[in-house]
Amino acid sequence: MFKDKLDKIKEEAKKELFDRLSSNGNYLIEGDTIKLIGDFYKNQTRISLKNYGIINPESIEEYIALGGYRGLYKALFEMTRQEVIEEVKKSNLRGRGGAGFPTGRKWEGAFKVEDYPKYVVCNADEGDPGAFMDRSLLEGDPHCVIEGMLIAAYAIGSNKGYVYVRAEYPKAVSMLRKAIESAKKYNMLGENIMGTDFSFDLEIRLGAGAFVCGESTALIQSIEGNRGLSQQKVYRTTEKGLFNKPTVLNNVETFSNIGQIIDKGADWYLSYGTEDSSGTKVFCLVGKVENSGLVEVPMGTTLREIIYDIGGGASGGKKVKAVQTGGPSGGCIPENLFDTKVDFASLKEIGSIMGSGGMVVMDEDDCMVDIAKFFMEFTVDESCGKCTPCRIGNKRVYEILQKITMGKGTEEDLEKLKDLSELITKTSLCGLGQTATTPVVSSMHYFYDEYKSHTDGHC
Ligand code: SF4
Repeated sequence: MFKDKLDKIKEEAKKELFDRLSSNGNYLIEGDTIKLIGDFYKNQTRISLKNYGIINPESIEEYIALGGYRGLYKALFEMTRQEVIEEVKKSNLRGRGGAGFPTGRKWEGAFKVEDYPKYVVCNADEGDPGAFMDRSLLEGDPHCVIEGMLIAAYAIGSNKGYVYVRAEYPKAVSMLRKAIESAKKYNMLGENIMGTDFSFDLEIRLGAGAFVCGESTALIQSIEGNRGLSQQKVYRTTEKGLFNKPTVLNNVETFSNIGQIIDKGADWYLSYGTEDSSGTKVFCLVGKVENSGLVEVPMGTTLREIIYDIGGGASGGKKVKAVQTGGPSGGCIPENLFDTKVDFASLKEIGSIMGSGGMVVMDEDDCMVDIAKFFMEFTVDESCGKCTPCRIGNKRVYEILQKITMGKGTEEDLEKLKDLSELITKTSLCGLGQTATTPVVSSMHYFYDEYKSHTDGHC
């Protein structure tokens, strides 16, 4: 029985792991769980990052010791494909890559299409400035991503998957490779997994670092061996995705939750977060903040709790001025709105997004026009150039911002910024262009006086 094999590995590895960590003052061992100790961790709730910084990522045994592959075992031996999908639907897990689409509904879509082969793809093409959630998860706990992909594959009836990861993440790639090899060795990957009739093969595809390849249609083009350009979306990816076949495409963090949702049940997952946004979310807290790093909190935690209680406020005794959430497509939120809850709906209401989880803190010394210019420069560099509004429009926006920060801007330029931003949002082909001017629009909305100071010649 495979269960006996799993239990044996678990008991042996657990003893070694607990012995090793019990003498280390950085860990708190409570029953079967191990937690990191310290002010930075005490207000966090770690589900995705449960093993991060605790297990040796090269050891599948240590992953199993802390409950790893139990979700896969349960799915394969105790649940039908439909039951797995229903459990994920019930958990209300929404995609952590940015769009927040319900994961279970996505899987159900791919499950229902009678067209084979089907594919499971993991988007690890993290490219937001200041974001390193996916990289850290792959470096620190690659098996939780593999387990999530395996459960997705079983649920939709797929035998082939790809992890699309950027080549600039060599350690993540190396950890993933080792994890795939050890999963094969233990019969978690390959033919007749755990002695069942379910087989799954997993390949790594390296991205060359183009930000646009994080967008689903461009990512699919790139895996297929074409230039990574966004495409007009005619069909859902779940109907005609990779190689024109039904495909489930989720990001690293989304997959990292799946094993525990299946193992512990949807009700357990629903006990975290809000009605609209269940579970937890991993953020990269960076910028002018005292304690920076990976933060995982229940959805619905306020920005203030994250930035002050966990982040310790601005570094160097300065005042926090704003936070930019959601990467280059996100908005700049002023300090007086820090009681906003962090969930999909609340961030949208104040003109920002959750995105994949970037959170860049700015202090009183930061000029918000400069910040908007920084993000626009990034977008102009990363535009694939396929459509005119994004290729030309964003460049014009960047040039106007340059002019304003050089003290040569006028009132008319401020109007042009607003009009151009609206036009680019409405007419760009893909999400990159459609959201590119969000930092400009939000900073103009909340910090208009700073733009005016530049155009009035006060700075
Ligand atoms: Fe390319 Fe930008 Fe158009 Fe997207 S919006 S297709 S990134 S040019």
